[in-house]
Amino acid sequence: MRLFIKYQAVIGLEVHAELQTKTKMFCACPVVDLTTSAPNTAVCPVCSGLPGALPVVNKKAVEYALRVALALDCQIANTSLFARKNYFYPDLPKGYQISQYEYPLAQFGKLTIDTVNGPKVINITRVHMEEDTGKLTHITNEKDGAYSLVDLNRAGVSLLEVVSEPEINSPEEAVAYACTLRDIVREVGVNSGDMEKGVIRFEANVSIRPFGSAKLGTRVEIKNLNTFRGMEKAIHYEIARQSRLLDMGQLVDQETLGWNEELEITYSQRSKEEAHDYRYFPEPDLPPLVIEKEWIAEIRSQLPEMPRARLQRIQNSYELNLDDARLVTSDLATTQYFEEAVRQANGIPAKTIANWVTGQIFSWMNSSRENITQIKVKPDHLVLLLQSLQKEEINPNIAKTILEEMLKTGKTAGEIIMDKGYRQISEASVIKELVTKVLNDNPKQLVDYQAGKETLANWFFGQTMRAAQGQANPQVLQEELEKQLQEKKS
Ligand code: ADP
Ligand code: ZN
Ligand code: MG
Repeated sequence: MRLFIKYQAVIGLEVHAELQTKTKMFCACPVVDLTTSAPNTAVCPVCSGLPGALPVVNKKAVEYALRVALALDCQIANTSLFARKNYFYPDLPKGYQISQYEYPLAQFGKLTIDTVNGPKVINITRVHMEEDTGKLTHITNEKDGAYSLVDLNRAGVSLLEVVSEPEINSPEEAVAYACTLRDIVREVGVNSGDMEKGVIRFEANVSIRPFGSAKLGTRVEIKNLNTFRGMEKAIHYEIARQSRLLDMGQLVDQETLGWNEELEITYSQRSKEEAHDYRYFPEPDLPPLVIEKEWIAEIRSQLPEMPRARLQRIQNSYELNLDDARLVTSDLATTQYFEEAVRQANGIPAKTIANWVTGQIFSWMNSSRENITQIKVKPDHLVLLLQSLQKEEINPNIAKTILEEMLKTGKTAGEIIMDKGYRQISEASVIKELVTKVLNDNPKQLVDYQAGKETLANWFFGQTMRAAQGQANPQVLQEELEKQLQEKKS
């Protein structure tokens, strides 16, 4: 514990998110799902780096990049430049990656995250566009030894890089930042957020310094963090490792590390001495990227409400607890469904609606694989069902059965109640008769009850409810049963 108190962790994140346009950044090749498409089927002279092939900027990719930059409150550069980042690697046949360097698309953004100490603003250094590389698969087997396969389907796919200032101070804050940013790229419709598919990837720069010191410590950069859990563990691990080094009077090496998910340790990939000199220079095959003010204004005006703002608004306007608010705002469509139902609710508490949506409707969506816009029960029909429940025309258990039926068939609650005769039995006289009959029919249980086996009261309740085909008003039934049992006792 001492280690974590003596030093302050300083973390800056670099996030790469693919811009999921139909075609790649600089050619007309389709952007395909790597996990389902045959390797090297979406390639052309441009993205496979044949000499003389010329790149052309994908306007949609720029629009997508602007959506994210504006959602992060960045200043958009009137003119930005593409640059060549030179290095040789088999996943990049051109021998350089087109990126942005000195003149990025956007700078000076902000992202607000929620921490244990309340909201915290993390400044965004820059947002720039580049192209993704191909994907290498390293294989070792007995027959062929070690070899690597390359799939260029991903080479040249538009990629956005978002770089934060070193203002994140714990692994938990890093995860909150990563998660909030992931939600934003998803919300503005440019990236699915599927970390397991690698369409969004995170690198963490981590250093420590004595508390109170203004000078930054030497940083390491941790690559290939594929899960939020992995990110949290890797950063924890690094803070502890660096603390031990400083405690022993040693220095932290500036290096690039990998994270071994299985062993839960970081390992050195390359040291500062081996750092690449990329020899950036302006890309001669592309003109400067000039973005008109009107276009920025248009994109800004079309931005949706951001997930965090939505969560706060829903939580405050409907007095939901945080968990419920999180669930109903998990995506825009669910929020819209919930709010539409609340608008029509007519006295039904928002909390009740939230419970039904996140309970039975979510579990139906899970098993049927439908999303909220596909389910057969529209918000107004859910409200009608809940009104029947509120008016005690049906009981809660029957309401569940009816909702199930509504989800399956698309019928309204009213139709189902009519068809199946589900109306709740509340008449005291009818319930009284049912209870009397159940007690008379089960003399042995009654004797046991009278002898002190109190739990049998529940059993009698169940028997009577069954005799009423589940339709008895549970409260009326409970009262009547208690009354009759009391009489039998004395
Ligand atoms: P590079 O390409 O060398 O990684 P970038 O500017 O792309 O440089 O990214 C640097 C990242 O490292 C930023 O997120 C920045 O906030 C972070 N960073 C810089 N110095 C430190 C430090 N001493 N400790 C932690 N993070 C740092
Ligand atoms: Zn191509
Ligand atoms: Mg870096």
